[in-house]
Amino acid sequence: MVFKKKMGVIITLKNIFHSVLDFFFPQICVTCQSKLYNSNFSICNECVSKIEKANPSDIENIFHQNISQFGTIEGFFSHFEFTKGGKCQRVIHELKYNKKSNLGIYLGILLGKELSKKNWFPNIELIIPVPIHYIKKLSRGYNQSDKICEGIQKVTNKNYYPKVVKRKKFTQTQTLLTISERIKNVSGAFKVRDVKKIRNKTILIVDDVFTTGSTVNELAKTLLNSGAKVIFLATLAFVKDRDFTVY
Ligand SMILES: [Zn+2]
Repeated sequence: MVFKKKMGVIITLKNIFHSVLDFFFPQICVTCQSKLYNSNFSICNECVSKIEKANPSDIENIFHQNISQFGTIEGFFSHFEFTKGGKCQRVIHELKYNKKSNLGIYLGILLGKELSKKNWFPNIELIIPVPIHYIKKLSRGYNQSDKICEGIQKVTNKNYYPKVVKRKKFTQTQTLLTISERIKNVSGAFKVRDVKKIRNKTILIVDDVFTTGSTVNELAKTLLNSGAKVIFLATLAFVKDRDFTVY
């Protein structure tokens, strides 16, 4: 317990140090390295406009081929397409592994604007990010899905509950696992902390990248078993080419 506390303090100090550095040195665009004078989001307008957009028919296909069979998720939307070596991959890497949490907020704003156009979106009563285990959160400094939700909330005013679900199981990266191994790996990973908040609610789950769907399906199942009414899913990006692994 003492060790955990010490680790927590060290990692927190490291994160504060990064924030101080960001404050004193001007930000540069994470993809083209140009200086950013009027933006606090770590990416320039030109680069953001070049992130590969998801094709609506691909989103439909993903839903029908990879999501609807779970029987837990009613609808799906993803704003970007994650391709190997593409801008989207670069940007999401910066968000997850390089302390660029503000990128998550910005991309969340863009995702939120697109979500607002969906005919099912007015039904959403609350937004829940896919939680990460607290050890991962300590080393990363934040949960990237929380940041995406913050962005969505800024443009939609939907309720957002970052702590209503806990990730109780620490799972290793799923990169090298088969689909059935992934399902087993995340089984029982989540616990609803406050059942009253989700009971009979229409919920939007938010994640960074959709790959096989095993994690979001497990979360949807946990929410439904705890009394949620209907679940929708939104991700920043989805992987179309399944021949390569994401992380
Ligand atoms: Zn740029």
